[in-house]
Amino acid sequence: MATAVPAAAVRTTTKVAKFGGTSVATAAQLLKVKAIIEADPARRFIVPSAPGKATSSDTKITDLLYLAQQLGAKRQPLGQVWDGISNRFLTIVKELKLDLDLAPTLAEARAKIEAGASADYAASRGEAIHGRVVAALLGAQYIDAAEVVAFDRSGRLDAKTFDLIAKRCAGPGRFVIPGFYGATPNGEIKTFSRGGSDVTGAVVANALGVTLYENWTDVSGVLMTDPRVVPEAKPILEITYRELRELSYMGASVLHEEAVFPVRDKGIPINIRNTNKPDDAGTMIVAERDAGHQVVVGIAGTKGFTVINVEKALMNAEVGFGRRLLDVFERVGVSFEHTPTGIDTMSVVVSDKQLTSNGNVSKIDQIVEDIQGAVKPDAIKVVPGMALIATVGQGMNHAIGTAARLFSALAKARVNVRMIDQGSSEQNIIVGVTEGDLAIAIRAIYNEFA
Ligand code: ASP
Repeated sequence: MATAVPAAAVRTTTKVAKFGGTSVATAAQLLKVKAIIEADPARRFIVPSAPGKATSSDTKITDLLYLAQQLGAKRQPLGQVWDGISNRFLTIVKELKLDLDLAPTLAEARAKIEAGASADYAASRGEAIHGRVVAALLGAQYIDAAEVVAFDRSGRLDAKTFDLIAKRCAGPGRFVIPGFYGATPNGEIKTFSRGGSDVTGAVVANALGVTLYENWTDVSGVLMTDPRVVPEAKPILEITYRELRELSYMGASVLHEEAVFPVRDKGIPINIRNTNKPDDAGTMIVAERDAGHQVVVGIAGTKGFTVINVEKALMNAEVGFGRRLLDVFERVGVSFEHTPTGIDTMSVVVSDKQLTSNGNVSKIDQIVEDIQGAVKPDAIKVVPGMALIATVGQGMNHAIGTAARLFSALAKARVNVRMIDQGSSEQNIIVGVTEGDLAIAIRAIYNEFA
């Protein structure tokens, strides 16, 4: 007699597999990609980037396409730049012995770019053309992203995208949806910002409600800290979306910033994997993790901040002080990063990039002058050359002794901590140190917690 199978047990596992530029840079790389995909029937929705650098001295196809567009805009011949682009694709097709004639697709793109097509159109061709190559290699169905990824009039992703993708990918088999671009309501091609194939992958994962979003790249996951500072930095096995966001904010570049939100909304984990080492587990990015065994997941630091310290006796009793101070920054168009406060002091931390506009003219003198007028402080001190370091771990602010370990590690390394911000997210402790102390401070924190 047949027994009923509980619904949960029959839920099929499906995965989106996004492959970054270096993973798909050459025919040899594409063969690795094919083997990875075919090793798992759940890998049904494939999102490729354009071919990236095949060697370190090589140029990414996307960069060549932007160059071609600049020539086309001036109605200059595309010459060698175009030859470089088309030869890369034609060589891949030839080496893979694919039954695919790219000549008409390449000719159409060339003609449009020569006639002055937009930068977004030109750049998107890297993914659009490469998607056809990947589909031919896998015997999968190719879907032009312009038909399913919709931007609204203000340039934001239109919610109808999710339905469009779900409808087009409803059948059996594998589908290839090129990353990075979509179309506006009037049919013009528009791209996400650079690295945006990550976003396409996340959007496809959300639309199809897959079990896992695999993001295949050339490293075995997110490292605990910058390997240029700590060469032996270990990979992170598990990290939450929010922890990753904190690390990326401070400069750790792993995924496109906007790639987390679409998957987080549906609780779909992201697995960062290495195309060149497919047996490595990589990093799992999840909604929740058990922080018991690993309080600190990562450490990231960046140079280039200025702190403006404002002091005034009885500031705490002065209603509206904070608003008037921050209003100064708003009026000069400077966004701030942090505002640590004391009883009679309030500091505003800003990125140096925010302080310079129109070339090199700093807005700092204007800010100081406006603060004098707005809050009549007893003293203002501007401290340039600061670096911020975020030590990230969910709930670490509450884990007894974590802050003590952090600060004694810094003290032992003789690093002078100039600013502390625990933030309200409970995900991190941020310290400010002089730029010269950045590397030594990161190493000290890593050695304490790794
Ligand atoms: N090819 C695009 C870029 O280089 C998008 C991507 O690779 O994600 O930015």
